[in-house]
Amino acid sequence: SREQLRTLAQVSPVTPDGVTLELAANISSTKELDMVLDSGARGVGLFRTEFLYMDRSRFPTEEEQFEVYREAAERLQGQPLIIRTLDIGGDKQLDYYEMPEEDNPFLGYRAIRFSLNFKDLFKVQLRAILRAAAFGNVKIMYPLIASVEEVREANEVLEEAKRELAAEQLPYSADVPCGIMIEVPAAVAIAELLAQEVAFFSIGTNDLVQFALAVDRMNEQISHLYEPFHPAVLRMLRSVVEAAKGQGIQVNVCGELAGDVRAMPLWLGLGIHELSLSAQAILPIKEALLRTSAQESRSLIKELFLLRTGKEIRERLERFHAESA
Ligand code: PEP
Ligand code: MG
Repeated sequence: SREQLRTLAQVSPVTPDGVTLELAANISSTKELDMVLDSGARGVGLFRTEFLYMDRSRFPTEEEQFEVYREAAERLQGQPLIIRTLDIGGDKQLDYYEMPEEDNPFLGYRAIRFSLNFKDLFKVQLRAILRAAAFGNVKIMYPLIASVEEVREANEVLEEAKRELAAEQLPYSADVPCGIMIEVPAAVAIAELLAQEVAFFSIGTNDLVQFALAVDRMNEQISHLYEPFHPAVLRMLRSVVEAAKGQGIQVNVCGELAGDVRAMPLWLGLGIHELSLSAQAILPIKEALLRTSAQESRSLIKELFLLRTGKEIRERLERFHAESA
């Protein structure tokens, strides 16, 4: 019932054997903040800012963005707000800016690639975020990172934005933690190198599964091949977590898989710090978390790594879920 759900919102996200897995929310607009606050989520783990750029007739100004980010930062009252920089392109288009025709838009001109090619526009967004960071616990996240160079180039624009704000004597926060999405297989392969350059990782399973399996996430013809429990995906998740642990940085998961109750033992078994999911998925996932043992999850993970097909892994996880329900 609603009452039970409200009560659950107040309960700490801890397994029966005492392991904490933070639950944060994915949002696309500040309209969702009421629901986020009601859900008991610990802040926002993914603010998809592209929606601020869509459904309008021109790029949003620094002031317009600053107002939105500040509102979110203030309303979260010190809880973390991870703002992802513009992830346009792929399936997301702008009415007022013509993107080139592309044969493979998901492999094309999108996300950080667009921002690094359009640095003045990128800097407007970073200035707005840095200014909003003076009003709360804000972090920055770059999407679709595939190389160390991209991180460094983005950080150069960030430093320039800080220098400008300082020169203009505008209030801003100078120490905003900066992390990246892990959603390209190359980033998984060099996770140990990337971990030395950033404050945190957030695994975007939607794109990572698509690229790992070479299966277009929008193509219904091949949707049966889109298997998040594929043994390749499991191995990628493990190696990202190991790389992050090696550098002592936090690793979160923010793709749809985070909202799938069957995946809970993966996060607990691997040692993920935080899941970020749509506000509606917070409570069902918390219910699963409250009854899943971290110890049993670690044992289960060992078993899962011996299985050879996505179907076997998925069915084993389903059985585990049914038994713990
Ligand atoms: C992802 O790819 O998993 C992700 C969270 O980003 P988006 O769905 O916005 O591409
Ligand atoms: Mg993505």
